[in-house]
Amino acid sequence: MRVLLLGGTADGRELAVALRAAGHEVTESLAGRTAVARLGGPGARVGGFGGVPGLAEYLEEFGVDAVVDATHPFAAQISSNAAAACAITGTRLVRFVRASWQNHPHAAEWTWVPDHATAVTSAAGHGSGRVLLSVGRQPLPAYLGLPNVVARVAEWPGGQVPAGWRIIEARGPFTLAGELGLIRREGIALLVCKDSGGHHTDAKLDAAHLLGTPVIMIGRPAPPGGAERADSAAAVVAWLNNATDLPG
Ligand code: NAP
Repeated sequence: MRVLLLGGTADGRELAVALRAAGHEVTESLAGRTAVARLGGPGARVGGFGGVPGLAEYLEEFGVDAVVDATHPFAAQISSNAAAACAITGTRLVRFVRASWQNHPHAAEWTWVPDHATAVTSAAGHGSGRVLLSVGRQPLPAYLGLPNVVARVAEWPGGQVPAGWRIIEARGPFTLAGELGLIRREGIALLVCKDSGGHHTDAKLDAAHLLGTPVIMIGRPAPPGGAERADSAAAVVAWLNNATDLPG
């Protein structure tokens, strides 16, 4: 089948390999937010489609049989666009959903908040200790009122770093030893992160638990309707194989 894989995540990269190994013709689509993503690579396309109309046009122009949405759980816009474009064009859609941290063994210890604005308010209420922000680069402007911050991002485009802030560029997966070292070395008093889920970046949660560091966890945005869900590469492959047998 001709598959458009909406990626930009480690899951997307792994799924591309698994779907190609299963014999599908896969185009991995990347938004191109980072220098690494902008390089693209074999079987990749880079850049936005131009909203729902642009994505719908792409699906028809390239005769896409199925869309696999493996974007990050917090990339709500592209998932919503995919649901709408697939509905318009009658293209099958499956959403790869990595396990939430809601069922993580330490989840009950954390302060769960619905969005970045509430995370900022909650973090300010924890006092003036140093905050480790592990929320990605794009939401950082919301946190500029916090005076004592270490922000870890995959890529920093340059520009002025706010007073009292330190930027660390690093990509997961991260180890428990590394996360323990980071929290101790930087004197972190609070961790703010989002419910990305999965295992690539969960070592920080065990490290925070072991060191008694409080955690503010931002819950996921509601996923759009209109897509079936799969939680493993095998389930996506099975869904594609079943879809092949269904009448168009
Ligand atoms: P978003 O807010 O949901 O999407 C904004 C716009 O970016 C979309 O409307 C689309 O532009 C374009 N876009 C997003 N993902 C795309 C993809 N895979 N292929 C082509 N165009 C895409 O997304 P975001 O939160 O900025 O995230 C951008 C990318 O980074 C996503 O692919 C996501 O998987 C990855 N990522 C996000 C996070 C996160 O926390 N948000 C974390 C790690 C990785 P058009 O409307 O022009 O088509």
